[in-house]
Amino acid sequence: MSLTKKILIGMGLGIVVGLIFNLAIPGFFDTVNSYVFVPLGKIFVNLIKMLVVPIVVVSLILGTAGISDPKKLGRIGFKTVSFFLITTALAIILAIGLALIIQPGSGEFQLDGASFEATEAPPVIDTLLNMIPTNPINAMAQESMLQIIVFSIFIGYAIARLGTKVDGIVRLIEQANDVLMYLVNVVMKFAPYGAFALIATAIGGQGFSAIMAMGKYMFVVLFVLLLHLVFVYGSALTFIGKMNPIKFLKGFSPAMIVAFSTSSSNATLPISMKAAQNSLNVSKTVSGFVQPLGATINMDGTAIMQGVATVFIAQIVGGNLTIGQMLTVLLTATLASIGTAGVPGVGLIMLSMVLTSVGLPVEAIALILGVDRLLDMCRTTVNITGDAVCAVIVERTEGANSALEKEEISA
Ligand code: ASP
Repeated sequence: MSLTKKILIGMGLGIVVGLIFNLAIPGFFDTVNSYVFVPLGKIFVNLIKMLVVPIVVVSLILGTAGISDPKKLGRIGFKTVSFFLITTALAIILAIGLALIIQPGSGEFQLDGASFEATEAPPVIDTLLNMIPTNPINAMAQESMLQIIVFSIFIGYAIARLGTKVDGIVRLIEQANDVLMYLVNVVMKFAPYGAFALIATAIGGQGFSAIMAMGKYMFVVLFVLLLHLVFVYGSALTFIGKMNPIKFLKGFSPAMIVAFSTSSSNATLPISMKAAQNSLNVSKTVSGFVQPLGATINMDGTAIMQGVATVFIAQIVGGNLTIGQMLTVLLTATLASIGTAGVPGVGLIMLSMVLTSVGLPVEAIALILGVDRLLDMCRTTVNITGDAVCAVIVERTEGANSALEKEEISA
């Protein structure tokens, strides 16, 4: 049986077990959850997270080094960042538009006793300045992804410029890459059990009543996520990437499943890079450059949740967003998606920045807290899919060149 099938079965069982426990025996659920599901899930997440920082460093260095022509590096960088920004903006426009049409926040609504501790989102200028690490080792120890990315791109650039003089280091990093990718295979053997446990915790831990109460909000978020996947990514793949979206889905689904069960773009990175390289014919160079960058700065799913949530909260507090405020949401949610770390739940914290920018009460986040875990699973899946679609498009539009450079660097 294929690994994807096994993971799907694990997830299915997780849903059934989580639901049964939640509905029938809640007290028992807490015990089993803390002694079985949480540890099992944690083993899986820790195992993949163990590989994330080394993989980001190694693959970004190789990715950047593989593009030896600085003009080409600039072009690929420009394409990648443009794709990220345009799709994120489209995501927010879709989110705001549909939330305005469906109006999830109008009608009777009770805010019963939910509370949310507002955490300050970092100011944008700080996020930008902090991108340059004063101590790269510290950046790696702290898992500061943006800093790690900047450092690795610098090293990759230097290697590309120095060319054959630094052959040794290139070979070393390539071999490190092979070792890490091999370990991804090993760790994925545990994925069915990990997915089972993570889903059981997520489903069992969500009150059914919360889901019922928040049905309309959830529906809008899920609907926009689906529209974005099908129309924005579907047409980008078909018309620019010249790839059949079904073929894409088949090749990339293992990564989507892992994103769904872990709710973490970062943790999924090793698996999504492997899927792109092995099943979507993206070269190591392009995948190594685009995907780690995307896992950190490109979060269309998160932006969609933030767009819908802002309109939803505005409707609940009885206000309507003006056009100017909507543009502010567009801008801040794009920045928030860049600043959101690819780990579970951060999108909700960054939402406070968006709400503040249009004068909405940050405490209202309490309203959507109850169902955020489930939505996080879905938006993370969209987040990493966007990165892979971008990788396919960059690969296809750069043509055979990137493959050639790959050969060049490993020669
Ligand atoms: N969990 C999301 C991710 O890793 C971020 C978020 O929206 O909370 O992509």
